[in-house]
Amino acid sequence: VLAEDREKTNRVAAEIVGGAAANDFENRYARKDGSVIHMLWSAYWSDADKIMFAVGHDITERARHAAALNQAKEDADRANRAKSEFLSRMSHELRTPMNAILGFAQLLEMDALTSDQSEGVKHILRGGHHLLELINEILDLSRIEAGRMSLSLEPVQLEPVLRETLALVHPLAAERGVRLNSLPHCDAFILVDRQRLKQVLLNLLSNAIKYNRLNGSVTIRCEEENQHVRILISDTGAGIPANRLADLFTPFERLGAEQSTAEGTGLGLAVTKRFVEAMKGTITVESERGEGSTFAVEFARVKSPLENAELVDALAEAPPAVSAGEYTILYIEDNLSNLLLIKRVLQHRPGVKLLSANNGIRGIDLARETQPDIILLDLNLPDMAGRDVLLCLRADPQCAAIPIIVISADATRGQIDRLMRVGASDYLTKPLDVKQFLGTLDRGLREGELAALAS
Ligand code: ADP
Repeated sequence: VLAEDREKTNRVAAEIVGGAAANDFENRYARKDGSVIHMLWSAYWSDADKIMFAVGHDITERARHAAALNQAKEDADRANRAKSEFLSRMSHELRTPMNAILGFAQLLEMDALTSDQSEGVKHILRGGHHLLELINEILDLSRIEAGRMSLSLEPVQLEPVLRETLALVHPLAAERGVRLNSLPHCDAFILVDRQRLKQVLLNLLSNAIKYNRLNGSVTIRCEEENQHVRILISDTGAGIPANRLADLFTPFERLGAEQSTAEGTGLGLAVTKRFVEAMKGTITVESERGEGSTFAVEFARVKSPLENAELVDALAEAPPAVSAGEYTILYIEDNLSNLLLIKRVLQHRPGVKLLSANNGIRGIDLARETQPDIILLDLNLPDMAGRDVLLCLRADPQCAAIPIIVISADATRGQIDRLMRVGASDYLTKPLDVKQFLGTLDRGLREGELAALAS
């Protein structure tokens, strides 16, 4: 018996002699050639015969499989962790330079340019957005596949989401001369993640526009049933051959569209299908060659969560205006190009003074000294984690009430939730959407003003 197993073997043998039967006792033996075998024993003691009767099975093979399985699982877990880490890092590394490219191109676009220059800037922006879309879709896809997609399913009113999405695809439709037929009235609530639903609709609508014919149209319909709501998006494009329908949702499969002028990654529908299924919905497609295609998504219908919808609407619409005055904004950021970008953006807000700190400690000191109206905070600082800066400011009575907007390249849901939980007022991702940034800033300033009035 292998030295490590001798003690338990002796103990169990004594128990059996004492009258206890053993059914699944395992131990190991060393052979003369040094190899080790695993045995599984059933045994009992016969008092009459004064003999122990035992049956042993050689389970060496099984034990080896179990050990290999265990090892494989450990390896897979390790690889999975490395993959998550890689994704988060890639998201950051790729998005940070995109911030400078798209940000400065957006600013250039606002300047007076010659038509050649303006054409060039348009190319930069188009290329940049395409790359960003690809980064986002690859991240989404890998996140879903790693089972790391966080969704918050809640009752969402369909119509406003449809309206917002339609507004987003309007320029694309206008560019391609595609008519968007007006939206049907639909006040049903469905159980979805609002952001992901928007992504799904955006993908389907932009496909319906991209793969349409000249002067074609896109029609949206809603079918409300007791338990479900179905959203149907129909186009008047060339349609999809029946034998290719199954490939639609395969990643990187573009069904020949790579030869056309329609830009794409071939990932949109793969991500869309996974999102829909993660929200417990279904997606189907019907297509007629030469007539067009209809994509339908269906979700569970739920009751409206608003007891008093009118009151909520009135509150949301109350317009607290920012009075023209002097505001100070502190930006804690070590990356100069990001700082320059914000500086340039703020030139569109006269009356706003920008202070900056290129590390966390200096940032905290400046916040205490100057009591800014808003703090913008990067998370990747040279001396301390942005999260710790946030905690430190929140714990300081002098600074606790100052709105803090986190601006980070880490767009992972978990990270956003963590920062919001420890006191961030808002979380914006890089590459910065200039309009969204200004909107968030105005909202922060308004809130600060209201708080000051109340105190
Ligand atoms: P992408 O649009 O980026 O190429 P998608 O995954 O969204 O990727 O779509 C995959 C392919 O399916 C497209 O390249 C196109 O050939 C085809 N397709 C998608 N939607 C439609 C549509 N509404 N009409 C015709 N073909 C479509």
